[in-house]
This record gives sequence, C-alpha cells and structure tokens, in this order.
Amino acid sequence: MAGKLQAPRGTFDVLPEDGERRAALRESSDELLGLAGYAPFDTPVFEDTEVFARGVGQSTDIVQKEMFTFEDKGGRSLTLRPEGTAGACRAYVEHGMHKLAQPVKLRYWGPFFRHEAPQAGRYRQFNQIGAEALGSDDPSLDAELILLLSQLLEEAGVESRLRLSSLGNAATRAAYGEELRTYLRSRQGELSDEVRARIDANPLRAFDSDHQGTKAVMADAPLLIDRLDPEDAEHFAEVRGFLDDAGQEYDLDPTLVRGLDYYTRTVFEFDSPSLGAQSGVGGGGRYDGLVEQLGGPATPGVGWAAGIERILLAGKPPEKLDLPVAYVVVPEPEQRRTAFRIAEALRERGVQAEMEQAGRSVKGQFKQADRVGATHVVIVGAAIEVKHMDSGEQKAVADIQELLQEVSL
Ligand code: AMP
Repeated sequence: MAGKLQAPRGTFDVLPEDGERRAALRESSDELLGLAGYAPFDTPVFEDTEVFARGVGQSTDIVQKEMFTFEDKGGRSLTLRPEGTAGACRAYVEHGMHKLAQPVKLRYWGPFFRHEAPQAGRYRQFNQIGAEALGSDDPSLDAELILLLSQLLEEAGVESRLRLSSLGNAATRAAYGEELRTYLRSRQGELSDEVRARIDANPLRAFDSDHQGTKAVMADAPLLIDRLDPEDAEHFAEVRGFLDDAGQEYDLDPTLVRGLDYYTRTVFEFDSPSLGAQSGVGGGGRYDGLVEQLGGPATPGVGWAAGIERILLAGKPPEKLDLPVAYVVVPEPEQRRTAFRIAEALRERGVQAEMEQAGRSVKGQFKQADRVGATHVVIVGAAIEVKHMDSGEQKAVADIQELLQEVSL
C-alpha cells in the first residue's frame, strides 16, 4: 500500500476557518496601507540567487543556511524568496521606477521560504505582509511605516511592544564594526565558539547571542547608537519626534540587530509577548544602500515585513458581522431549478445565500441551515416562504422583491 501523503515538513494547509481570518486580515491591511498610498505590488516567488546573495548579504544566516536554492534546467541558480525587500529593489531597478514620482510606495502579501527548524510560529513556507517606500530618505516615512504596522497589529488584536534603534550609515557602521571587532578580540576567551568564529564576518550578531559569557562581554560593548554621525543622529531624532507626536510608545534598544545586512539608520521590531520563543511579529528599517547594491542608482528606502501566521497566532479573530445569511430549503426535487435561481438572485443582490446541495431530508436541510448560520430559511415548495430563524415567524412571499424585504436584518 502507498504511504500516507502529508504536507512537507515546516509547511501547512490553510483550512477554511483559518482562511476566513486570513482573508479578513488581508482586507483590513489592504485598506490601511492603501489609505496611506501603498500600492499593491508583487514579485516572483523565486529569483536569481544573486538577488539575495547581494541584497540580503553573504554573511547572514538567511543566505548561509536558510535558502531553498536550486538549479533550473539551464543550470541557472534560483532561490525561493526568503524575504521581500531584495526582490522589491530588484524590480524597482528593472522597471526604472526611479523615474516615477518619489517615493514609490508598495505593499505586498504572499509566501516566503526559509529552511529553518520548524516549531510553533516558525515554518519553512510562511506568509508575510510587507510595505516599502523607495526614493526618499524623509524621516516621516520611517515614522509612517512604523505607525502603519503598529495600527495593523492593533486592528488584528495583537498586543505588541516596539523596539527601535538606528544603525547609522555604512561608513559609521564600518568604523564601528572595526571598533567592535577590536573589543571582541580583546575578550575572545569569554565568547561562544560561534560568535568568535564570526568576529570578522559579522561582529554585530554577537548582540543576538544567548551564550552567558558572550552576554556578559556584550553588556560592556561599545554601542553604535553612541557613534552616529550628526546627520544620522538628527534623522533618528526626527523619526522619534513623529512617533512621539503620534503617541506611539517604544523602547530604545541599541542592541537591536536585524538578521539582514542591508539596514542603515532606522531599525525596528515589534514583539508579541504571547508568542513565546518566536516573539518577533514584524520588523524592518531603512536600507539606503540596497538599490545601489543591486545595480541601480543611489536610492534610499525604508520598509517592513510582518508574519501573517504570527499575527493570527497572537491576534484575535475579528467579530462576525451581523449580515443576513439565507439558506434555501427544497422539499421536493421538482423545485430545485427555482431554488437555484432564487439563491442566485439573492447573491446578485449581495445577500449570502446557499441552497441544499447534498440530498438531505427536509429536517436535514434545516439542520444544515443552522450549521451555516442562516438567519433566514427560504422554503421553495408550492409557495415560497421565508422563515426568520430568530423569531420562528414564517411568511409567504410573492416575488423576489418581497423576498429581499424579508431577508434583511
Ligand atoms: P524578518 O524578515 O526575519 O524580519 O521577518 C519578518 C517577520 O516574518 C517576522 O517578524 C515573523 O513574523 C515572520 N517570519 C520570519 N521568519 C518566519 C518563519 N520561518 N516562519 C513564520 N514566520 C516567519
């Protein structure tokens, strides 16, 4: 006998109830981001591996360990997208979007892929919602994007905490990187093997370590936020000013290092306490050098991505709307064509309506009407009658107009 087939490790099926919540989240986020001018946008789920190698950064965990990379039949190296920003910047360059009015504001929603050890809230195929603003370094964009994510999480019923920092520019980061390397080398005996091995490649990641000795070393480490040049410090102060005016709370976290190399200036992350170990629900920052790194003109950019599964795990289901639901009961098979037309006519007028479609007895049909949450049952027999499920009142109707009047709340 053939073995039981299952979805691949780290993937999941979206079943109807979950699907409804996703659809509702998508709708509310589309509205929220659309109101701020973020246009719907998408890129392919796979790209030339080069896009991520150059965009995300060779020394990151994502590129070193987590990419699903494969060769196509022509021997080209392709990778399932592990994140959305590198592809968005590739598209910005490819389509000459720097010639459009700036900033170009984009929003996206879709699947992403990382070869990580699966656990609650961590999958190999997951979905992200993201927003990017390219072509302007105005600090109001950083603040606007942070506030949009904050509102999105609030609307989804996710309790979250915002951590915020600034990484300055590439030159400051490079100088600081050298300072940090020198510091880490001076205390390398106390560091974890992994952190010690990566002092040259990515000393910033030492701040992420859970290793006790490393943590003690990092408590005394120099901080990038104290080394920002005056322009970057001013930019960060302006971002904070906008957030303060909006009443947005945040914790300054100078050790906030996101796991991607492209960030400059503002970085932020929203954590949700209810998520446990995988507490990051969404995050992002500014990436002023990324478009250039991908072969385009020097172009500032800022954006974020949030995990849809984590939003749904941490959030609350939306309240059900009080809308009429009709179920069309057909006692005799001869009336099925009339019942079919009635269900269609109701839907054409915006009323949720279904008819009996599984050969049930009349009693079974009423049970099914309860299961689908019908507020009204339309009985199509010799006459057409409407039963109000809350009051039990039943009334004959002469035509679709009268039916519609009855089937409303
Ligand atoms: P990142 O690009 O790593 O900052 O990811 C942004 C958001 O995507 C995170 O805050 C998570 O909510 C979500 N996310 C990242 N990786 C995974 C994963 N493997 N499974 C589920 N969600 C993820």
